[in-house]
Amino acid sequence: MNVIGKVTVLPQLPPSIARLSELAYNLYWSWTPHAQALYEELDAPNWERFQHNPVRQLLEVPQARLEQAAADPAYLARYAKVMADFDAYMGKQDTWAAKNAAGMKPVAYFSMEYAFHESLPIYSGGLGVLAGDHCKSASDLGIPFTAVGMLFHQGYFRQLFDKDGWQNEAYDELDLTTLPITPALTEKGEEARVKVRIGERDVHVRIWNLNVGRIKVLLLDTNVPENSEDDRKLTARLYGGNQELRVQQYVLLGVAGIRALRVLNVPGDVYHMNEGHAALLGLERTREYVARGLDFKTALETVASSTLFTTHTPVAAGNDAFAYDLMDRYIGAWPAQLATSRDELYRLAEHEQMWDGHPVPTFSMTVFALNMSRAANGVSELHGEVSRDMWKFLYPGAQTEEVPIGHVTNGAHNLTFTSQAMRDLLGTVLPADWTERLEDEQMWEAVEKLTDQQLQDVQRDMKRDMITFVRGRMREQMLRNGASAADVAATDTLLDENTLTIGFARRFATYKRATLLFRDKARLSRIVNHPERPVQFVFAGKAHPADNPGKSFIQEIYKISQEPEFRGKIVILENYDMHVARHLVQGVDIWLNNPRRPLEASGTSGMKASFNGSPNLSILDGWWREGFDGTNGWPIGEEREYADLNVQDDADAFSMYHTLETDITPRYYGGLSGQPTWASTVRRAIQTVSPRFSMQRQVIDYVQKYYRPIAERGATLASGNSTRAREIAAWKGWVRQQWPYTTLTATAQLPATARPGQSVPVTAQVNPAGINLDELRVEAVLNRGGHLTHVPLVSRGGGTYSAEIPLKDSGLYSVGVRMLPVIDGLSNDLEAGLIKWA
Ligand SMILES: *Cc1c(COP(=O)(O)O)cnc(C)c1O
Repeated sequence: MNVIGKVTVLPQLPPSIARLSELAYNLYWSWTPHAQALYEELDAPNWERFQHNPVRQLLEVPQARLEQAAADPAYLARYAKVMADFDAYMGKQDTWAAKNAAGMKPVAYFSMEYAFHESLPIYSGGLGVLAGDHCKSASDLGIPFTAVGMLFHQGYFRQLFDKDGWQNEAYDELDLTTLPITPALTEKGEEARVKVRIGERDVHVRIWNLNVGRIKVLLLDTNVPENSEDDRKLTARLYGGNQELRVQQYVLLGVAGIRALRVLNVPGDVYHMNEGHAALLGLERTREYVARGLDFKTALETVASSTLFTTHTPVAAGNDAFAYDLMDRYIGAWPAQLATSRDELYRLAEHEQMWDGHPVPTFSMTVFALNMSRAANGVSELHGEVSRDMWKFLYPGAQTEEVPIGHVTNGAHNLTFTSQAMRDLLGTVLPADWTERLEDEQMWEAVEKLTDQQLQDVQRDMKRDMITFVRGRMREQMLRNGASAADVAATDTLLDENTLTIGFARRFATYKRATLLFRDKARLSRIVNHPERPVQFVFAGKAHPADNPGKSFIQEIYKISQEPEFRGKIVILENYDMHVARHLVQGVDIWLNNPRRPLEASGTSGMKASFNGSPNLSILDGWWREGFDGTNGWPIGEEREYADLNVQDDADAFSMYHTLETDITPRYYGGLSGQPTWASTVRRAIQTVSPRFSMQRQVIDYVQKYYRPIAERGATLASGNSTRAREIAAWKGWVRQQWPYTTLTATAQLPATARPGQSVPVTAQVNPAGINLDELRVEAVLNRGGHLTHVPLVSRGGGTYSAEIPLKDSGLYSVGVRMLPVIDGLSNDLEAGLIKWA
C-alpha cells in the first residue's frame, strides 16, 4: 500500500474501566502481574504480538471487546482490586523515606540506558536493568528522585539467528504513540524543548515523560522536524555507530539532560552519574555557575561537591576514551563558555593510552567523571578494590586502598523478576507488608516454613511455563529459517521438565565466557546424558553488533546444540530481553555465571534467579563473592586469578564439571546422605539473596552512604554564592603552587627486631614553604602485610614532628613518613591531590 498519511483512532474506554488508560501510562504495571493480566485478558494473541504493551493493547483491542470486559463482573472485580492497590501505592504517606530520610534532598539520576520492560527497548543489558530497577525502588521507597535518559527510537537491536546460528540485527522504528510516554510540558502547558549546540549545529531536543510509579523519567529525543536528517538520528540507536556518534550522544545526555530538568523546573540537589556516559553533565552545570559569575574553579568545586559517580566495569571497552581532536569537534566551544582553557578542561579527563604503540593523551569519560564528582563507587566489594587499583594513577603518592572510590553492591528489583506464583507462595509465610520491607533479612527467615512440596510444586509450574515458552520461540525461529517439517516438529520435545535445568543468559561480551562449559565436550556429554541424573542447559544473549568474537560464541553454542548428543538438551534462544530473562530466571533450577574474574563488576541476573528459588553456580566474582555463604549455591573455582588465561579457563571448567558431578546432580536427584537437601538449598537461596541483593537495599545504601552526605556537603559549598567552594578552590590553588617548595625529611630509630607492643621513635623535619603548618598533616604509615595504619606525628615547633609509633602485633612492618595538605570541609584527605613521602 502507498501510505499517504497515518491516524490513530483512540479507543473509547467504557466508564467502568476508564482508568485502564491512566494505568497504562504508569510502569507500575511492569512489576505487577495482576495489572498486566487486565490488559492481556482483553486479547491474548495481541498481547504476545506487541511485547505485552498495555498502551498498544488499548489501541488495538476492538471496542466491542472493551464493552464486553466492562460488563463482566469478574473482570470488574479484578480491575477494582488492581486500581485500589495502585492508588494505595501512589498515595502512600508512610514510605521508607518518610520514616527514615525525612527532608531528603532531591536526586537527579542520569543513565544512558534504562530497562523497565521489554516493550520499551531502550537498553542493552545489565547496566540498563540496574538503572531501571534503581528507579523502581526509588519509587517504592518514596525518595525524591528524577531520572534522565534517552529515547532511542530504534532501540538497541532485535537479535535474529540465521540457520547457521549467526547473529543478525534488525532495527525496528518504534511507533511512539504506542509507548507509555507523553510529551513533557512546561508550566505554561507547552511541549518542552531544549537546544544544544553540538559542533557547529544547534540540535533541538524534545523531552518525553515516563511515569515509573511515583517517580518520573525524562527521555531525550532529537527526532523532531526542526533538526537535520542526521541530527534526527542522534537518538536512533543505543551504542550504535562510531565514536563520533557516541560523543554527540554523551553531549546530549549530559547537557540536554540538565537543560531538560531546568526547563521543567525539576529540582536536583544531588546528581548521580550512572557510568561515565553521563559525565558531560558536569560541563553544563559548571557553565550555569560560571554564567552567574563564578570563576571556573569555584564553579567546578560547587558542581563536583554535589555529584556522585558510579563506575560499572573494569573492561576497557566499557571505559570510553576519545582522541582530543574528536572532542574538539564537539565540545570545542566549551572552554570559552566555562572561562577556562582547553588544556585545563582536558586535563580533568586526561588518560594516557597506548595507541599504535605510542602514548597518547585521551579524553576519558571515566577520568572526567571522577574529577567532576567528589564521591565515587564501584558496584561490589571486589569491584571497589579493582577500581581503586585501576584508577590509582590519578592519585599519585596514594596507597591503593586509600583511593577514594567506595562501593555499593548492586541489587535487583525483586518484584519485577519474581513470578506471581512465587510471590503468592511467599505471601503465605511473610508478613502482609513484605513487599515494602524487602531488605529486611530477619523477615526472610520465615522462608524456612515453606515445605519441600510447596517449593517443588511452584518451581515445577514455573519450569513448565519456561519450557512451553522455549519451545514456542524455537518453533518460530525454525519456521522463519525454513527448517524441515521434522525439525519444526522436534521443537515440541525440546527440554524435559524432569531434568535438572541450568540457565545461562546475559550479554555475550567475551569476558563472560559463554562457551566455557564446552571446554571438555566429552565430559559435558557424560553430564548431560547421564542415565539417572541428566542435565540440560538453556542459553540466551546478545553480542554487540560490532563484536564478532561474541557472535562466534553464539554460533558455537548453536552448532553444539544441533549435535546429536546435545540435541534437545542444550538450547540457545534468540533475542534475549527482559521477557526472556524473566522466563529463564523463573524457570531454571540453577543459574550459571562464569565470567573471567575479576571482570564481572557485579552481575545481577543470578540475584533474580535466587528470588525465584534457583541457586547460583558461579565464579566468586562480583556480587556472588559476597552472596555465596556455603549453603545457598555453589562457587566455581577459587578466590584467585591466574596469570595464564588458559590455565584459568581449564581450572574453572574443571571445577564446574566436578561440582555438577559430585554435588549438584546427586543433590537434585534425591540427595546424598549427610548432605543438605535440594529444597533446603532452595530455601537458603531465597532467604539469603532476596534481602541482601534487593534493589531496595541497594537504594537505601545509596541514600545513606552517598545521597544524604553529598546533599549536605553540596549545600555547604554552594551556600552564600559558593563561599566555601571559593575558599577551597583558592586553597587548593595555593597549596599546589607552594608544594614544589616544601620539603620533608624523616628518620626512624628502628631496632633490628622488636617485641609486640614496643614503640619506635619517628621524627620528621618539614619545610612548609608558604603553607600553614596547621594545614599540613604529617604522618607515619605502617604497612604490615598490606594492611595500612596511619599514625599522626605531633608538631614540636620549628617544623619538627615526632611520635612514638606502636608496633602492636608481631610481623614484618614497613614504615614510611609522608605529609599532605588537609583542611576541614574536604570530601576526603586526598582531595588536594598532593602527597609527599620522605
Ligand atoms: C538482569 C539482566 C541482565 C544482566 O545480566 P548479568 O548476568 O548481570 O550480566 C542483562 N540483560 C537482561 C535482559 C537482564 O534482565
